[in-house]
Amino acid sequence: MHYIGIDIGGTTIKAARVDSLGAVAESLKAPTPAESLDGLIATLADLVSRLQSNAPVSSVGVGIPGLRNTRTGVIQTSPHITCIRNVNLQEMLQRKLAIPVLAENDANAGAYGEWRSGAGKGLHHMAYISLGTGLGGGLILSDRLFHGTSGYAGELGHTVVETAGRQCDCGASGCIETRVSGPGIVQTALERGVSGDVSSAGSIYAAAMHGNEGAKAVFVETGRYLGMACANLINLLNLQAIVIGGGVMASGDLLLNATREEVHRRAFRASAQDCPIVQSHLWPDAGVIGAAMLARDNS
Ligand SMILES: [Zn+2]
Repeated sequence: MHYIGIDIGGTTIKAARVDSLGAVAESLKAPTPAESLDGLIATLADLVSRLQSNAPVSSVGVGIPGLRNTRTGVIQTSPHITCIRNVNLQEMLQRKLAIPVLAENDANAGAYGEWRSGAGKGLHHMAYISLGTGLGGGLILSDRLFHGTSGYAGELGHTVVETAGRQCDCGASGCIETRVSGPGIVQTALERGVSGDVSSAGSIYAAAMHGNEGAKAVFVETGRYLGMACANLINLLNLQAIVIGGGVMASGDLLLNATREEVHRRAFRASAQDCPIVQSHLWPDAGVIGAAMLARDNS
């Protein structure tokens, strides 16, 4: 039997038909109609029907960028996709598609995917960090996706690392996402006066790879902030692994070596030794695979 996993991003919706072991059999993309709920539902229905046409599908999982209340099913907030705020997308889609649908926060879906069939397979306690336009987090604790009281747990990006830090999109300041994210990296490069193209994390990484010392320093500084977040997680939760994915992870070891150094400076040694910091095995499909695995395991 196959399952459909969907990852609704700020600009692109990714959808895949995934087999029962978590392997992608077929995948599709479509632009996100961020301001029209009818348009979004129609796009999702079209993707599902195209993926259903080649093989039977038993359920659909949807990763959404926002806080979803697990008691009511309503999406409380979504910074970039305004049309899904205060909407029970799971219920609406289920009615439209006539197939079981399960909605989940996108980073939680990524965490679930890495745990079920990726870098965290077989572990009991792990965190997943998705590093892109924002910094997403998901927690697997005692062999379960950890939701907290209302489903809002795992928002690592909005944990605070500075008292007088940068203004965050969430309304607070000093959140780690303002440092460790694509836009955060660009701002660091601008503040440091890095020469050349600093329009994106990717262009700054390219400059670093061509020997631009200022650009390299941006990634080392960003990696240290990420290391602080990881050390906090390790001391708080005594995890078995932290899995890091997301678009910015193309910068790989330049960032992660600084992260690992910072972890060893700040976390308890015994706890840090339990917890390797590893790259995602499923990227860029962690979100769709996780959503499909959630559909498999909950319907
Ligand atoms: Zn924030």
